[in-house]
Amino acid sequence: MKVVLALTFCSQLMAQNPIKNIVIVTLDGMRWQEVFNGADPTLLNNNKFTPDIKELSSKFWAETNEIRRAKLFPFLWSTVKQNGRIYGNRNAGNYVNVANRYHISYPGYNEIFSGYPDTAISSNKKIPNPNETVLQFINRQKGYEGKVAAFTSWDVFPYIFNSAQSGVYVNADIDTLKFSTPQFSLLNDIQFLSTKPIGVRTDVLTYMAAREYMKTYKPRVLYIGLDETDDYAHRGEYDHYLESANASDAMLADLWRTIQSIPQYKDKTTLIITCDHGRGDKIKENWRHHEKGIEESGETWIAMMGPGIIPAGEMQGRGQLYQQQIAATIAQLLGLKFRSSHPVAAAIEF
Ligand SMILES: [Zn+2]
Repeated sequence: MKVVLALTFCSQLMAQNPIKNIVIVTLDGMRWQEVFNGADPTLLNNNKFTPDIKELSSKFWAETNEIRRAKLFPFLWSTVKQNGRIYGNRNAGNYVNVANRYHISYPGYNEIFSGYPDTAISSNKKIPNPNETVLQFINRQKGYEGKVAAFTSWDVFPYIFNSAQSGVYVNADIDTLKFSTPQFSLLNDIQFLSTKPIGVRTDVLTYMAAREYMKTYKPRVLYIGLDETDDYAHRGEYDHYLESANASDAMLADLWRTIQSIPQYKDKTTLIITCDHGRGDKIKENWRHHEKGIEESGETWIAMMGPGIIPAGEMQGRGQLYQQQIAATIAQLLGLKFRSSHPVAAAIEF
């Protein structure tokens, strides 16, 4: 009975607010531990990872997990929690895992977007993805042609989305922003004249370029790939890792405000937020790393909000989702069924 009611409610929601657009944002290698518990006291109070403990504590420390996580991710733990769903709090028995065995980025993003944890995708090498992604699939559907775009900091995404063949517009690292508005022109100058502390375009410039593209060209599916959290964690800079996480949350809040201010998007856009892999725990400094041999680096999280998502807040109790389910979910939210020449995992059931 409960299921029937939920399904009826869901279809009623979808009928009232037809889902027209999807925006997906990923925070590379963002651990579920900080997403659900906030700043970790051991890492925060270790001078090796946090040179200025007092300063970082003043921003992100509080006695309880609930207050700490809300300091780190204020948008996630207010607007998204109230209006959407947040999966992956293992403390509450709610699990999200990657299905691929490698626990690194290209296999993770391939899994998210193709729905297929292909064992042949085993490295981050710049090799065109042989698997069709859901972005390519959607871009082929009537009404979506040329309306699917990706803006990313990491420069491997043109290969992950096989932009040369897929027709999906991918703007990665400091690809020239060849769009004729004063805003794009300014952003383009800034990205070429800025320092690159993480070796590729900084996340705020990736986000601003994506936002400008959204306002100007109104894509129906937009992907924004943020990267800094992973780079700073690898370096063992816990302060910069938390600050990047907090900045990503601020960008998500700004993105949602932008979405709700444009008639084409307002109340017709679903937001999906996730990551490509987790990281280890604190033993042997494994929080910095992720790889096949570090089991915890296969643990992730997913947040969703908008039409088609029945609000349920922080998901509690038994539950197991896999990253491979996201591709079919993206298609299903738009009323499409993602089929391809490779296997595609089933969508998440709401
Ligand atoms: Zn990494």
